[in-house]
Amino acid sequence: MTGALVWLRDDLRLADNPALRAAIDHGGDVTVAYVLDEDSPGIRAIGAASRWWIHHSLSALDAELQERGSRLVLRRGAAADVIDALVADSGADAVYWNRRYGPAERDVDAGIKAALHDRGTEAHSFAANLLWEPWTVLTGQGEAYKVFTPFWNAVQAMPEPRHPLPKPRDLPAPASVDGDTLDDWGLLPTRPDWAGGLRDSWTPGEQGAQRQLEHFVEHALEDYDQRDEPAMESTSGLSPYLRWGEISPYQVWHRLHERLEPAQRQHASAFLRQLAWREFNWNEYFHCDDIATVNVRRGFDAFPWRDVSEAELDRWRTGTTGFDLVDAGMRELWHTGVMHNRVRLAAGSFLVKNLLVDWRVGEQWFWDTLVDADAANNPANWQWVAGSGFDAAPYFRVFNPDRQLERFDPHREYVHRWVPAEELRPEPMVDLKATRQRALDAYEQMRRS
Ligand SMILES: Cc1cc2nc3c(=O)[nH]c(=O)nc-3n(C[C@H](O)[C@H](O)[C@H](O)COP(=O)(O)OP(=O)(O)OC[C@H]3O[C@@H](n4cnc5c(N)ncnc54)[C@H](O)[C@@H]3O)c2cc1C
Repeated sequence: MTGALVWLRDDLRLADNPALRAAIDHGGDVTVAYVLDEDSPGIRAIGAASRWWIHHSLSALDAELQERGSRLVLRRGAAADVIDALVADSGADAVYWNRRYGPAERDVDAGIKAALHDRGTEAHSFAANLLWEPWTVLTGQGEAYKVFTPFWNAVQAMPEPRHPLPKPRDLPAPASVDGDTLDDWGLLPTRPDWAGGLRDSWTPGEQGAQRQLEHFVEHALEDYDQRDEPAMESTSGLSPYLRWGEISPYQVWHRLHERLEPAQRQHASAFLRQLAWREFNWNEYFHCDDIATVNVRRGFDAFPWRDVSEAELDRWRTGTTGFDLVDAGMRELWHTGVMHNRVRLAAGSFLVKNLLVDWRVGEQWFWDTLVDADAANNPANWQWVAGSGFDAAPYFRVFNPDRQLERFDPHREYVHRWVPAEELRPEPMVDLKATRQRALDAYEQMRRS
């Protein structure tokens, strides 16, 4: 009797899942497993909002599998041990997964693949979560692209990404193996339960992802040129679904390409360009190991960040800085698990430049509170804001949150969603002009050292 094991990771979907498709084609039982791995070396433990998300996402996935005569097997521990045990328990003679691109994840996966081969078990991996795997997009000199626009030009000249695979209708029964229950993992917050805003904002899972994509294409895409206005709801809201692989970039790419007809062309191609930033950041992470902890531009190692008190940081975290756009964004983040991109830039710049706080402090807060917290996109964007990343904003460009507000939310529509008009505002915690100058002086000091 043959059987296959599918190991799901950042690809919590049945449609367009090449590993699942290959396991079905293998023949015999198909056991579908998810491993909560907080033990393998170098793997970054996910944050609290992400834990909430995957609880619901895994539950939705299990329901979809059950509808097709299968189920999701949950196990916890270092992946190498757990996969070993699952192969033994299920009697699988082949293991399938979709590739991950973080350096630690690659090491773990390569070790597991080698160990499986040594024991005569097949192991196969597939491209599913990026349209262009990092080693396929290189400059003429064989190096990584460090600037976005040439990267974007290069990938547009490559063959079109493959078409998405359909969702399987029925699944072979799984081998009889036991697993944990989701409740065993205690992923949901209880004391206190702070997830009410997340529940109101999101439906994790593949069906929620498809609904979000259709809603965007049918109702919001035509306003995508106003995507910088946070009151506008003209962006896709797909980032957490892409983060957890509840939808694949291939599905998104091809759905948008259907729109590349004259009337929608401009909006669709602007959107696909944004989607390519996700790929560019993964490309950056692939080539720079410790993107969440080390400055990509090592010159920034000498940057004179300030030591700040927890009280000062708390004003930023809780949205009580006295600057409306920053405060609205930080409250939106706490309530919904996301923040509009333009506001992420303003809130990030405020922390790094006006408060002169190390970008890693902000990155960690976002890591814990974002439902789309992504091991490449969060640190790469923080390094972009700080000026220390690949294709980063020049350090001397300091966003003025009040001017950003005038420009992108002139009628305070977005701000008043999160900071009621009648609320008594705290005194602004800094003088924007003086702290801008302090940031520029600090930058000069770094350049001289
Ligand atoms: C400080 C900071 C931290 C960020 N952290 C994350 C993060 O952890 N995870 C994350 O997915 N995005 C992150 N972003 C990027 C961006 O803010 C979000 O992707 C975007 O707000 C998601 O909303 P949307 O899906 O409606 O975007 P849309 O405009 O609809 O874009 C479609 C998709 O393109 C991708 N995308 C768009 N902009 C970017 C970008 N600048 N960088 C990378 N991918 C992008 C996302 O996958 C997004 O879902 C961060 C930005 C900043 C400034």
